[in-house]
Amino acid sequence: GFNCGIVGLPNVGKSTIFNALTSAGAESANYPFCTIDPNVGIVQVPDERLDRLAEIVHPERILPTTIEFVDIAGLVKGASQGEGLGNQFLGHIRSVDAIVHVVRCFDDENVVHVSGSVDPLRDIDIIQTELALADLDSVDKKYQRVEKQAKSGDKKIKQECEFYGRVKTALEQGKPVRHLEVSDEERPLLRDLHLLTDKPVLYVANVAEDDLEGAHPFVAKVKELAASEGARVVVICGRIEAEIAELDGDEKKAFLADMGLAESGLDRLIRMGYELLGLITYFTAGKKEVRAWTIPLGTKAPQAAGVIHSDFEKGFIRAEVIAYRDFIAAGGEAGAKEKGLMRLEGKEYVVQDGDVMHFRFNV
Ligand code: GDP
Repeated sequence: GFNCGIVGLPNVGKSTIFNALTSAGAESANYPFCTIDPNVGIVQVPDERLDRLAEIVHPERILPTTIEFVDIAGLVKGASQGEGLGNQFLGHIRSVDAIVHVVRCFDDENVVHVSGSVDPLRDIDIIQTELALADLDSVDKKYQRVEKQAKSGDKKIKQECEFYGRVKTALEQGKPVRHLEVSDEERPLLRDLHLLTDKPVLYVANVAEDDLEGAHPFVAKVKELAASEGARVVVICGRIEAEIAELDGDEKKAFLADMGLAESGLDRLIRMGYELLGLITYFTAGKKEVRAWTIPLGTKAPQAAGVIHSDFEKGFIRAEVIAYRDFIAAGGEAGAKEKGLMRLEGKEYVVQDGDVMHFRFNV
């Protein structure tokens, strides 16, 4: 599965948010929720479209899709130098696909701050510096190896060496690699380095209970920084989310309505995590189940079918496709067919978010 690692300094609210995320998933009886590991949780991706489809199809069950969140605790200043089990935690970050960076934006004298005061930009900088230093270490090793080979005069190796040098310089300046301009030829070189600062990032501003509108200057600072990086920010109050996660469906709706909110912060976080990972959803809608399936943006029909079963991919013939809007507007498959809104698509079809798919395949 695809996963987001939750990182941040100690006492910023990571575990509170992680626990709320995973217990919110556990409440749903029709999905085989499980916690693989105390620090890894499978979380349902909320999607109203499933309910709309189910109203038309009346299936026996509804199955949302999921993503994984990993609670990566223990990142502290000096981690890249081995401080506080540092390298172990950096290793955990290496294994995730995207980073959810939790930033403390709440003042609370009862909750100790590791650096003595609440200062979101300083905190972000501490984490980014540790990740950049760890990356610098990896690139430097590579650079030194390639630099020796480059003496042979091989043009390609020389170019590689130049590239690693450029990556090094950026990291030395504390710049995340994801902001580096990289050519198509260089892209694979970068990918092979598995750098931490190459992963997409989303910021979570964890605010106080009475500051959900995110009007606090702390939040403004985080938003400003994120905007300069082209990153997104979710404003959440971890404590309130923990309470919401305890409620069942109807209670949750009532609670949110009471607070004037359309959806919980966690639901927003999950959706933004999903987008951060570059994932989209297609649906299957039958009497037995209405179900959401996850694919990376740009996936073609046979590979999308392979998510259901490898035989679907191997024996792929065609896909019957109805766009979600058309399916709803036409009142279901029969109506869509009548109106000529069902398309037959082949191997080269790039599946779109919301497509309602039916695969034809040879066994
Ligand atoms: P972690 O070390 O980043 O995992 O942080 P925790 O989730 O363990 O939270 C550290 C402390 O901050 C705990 O006492 C939490 O109850 C508290 N905390 C977390 N979120 C909030 C919040 O939104 N508001 C307030 N006031 N305290 C919070």
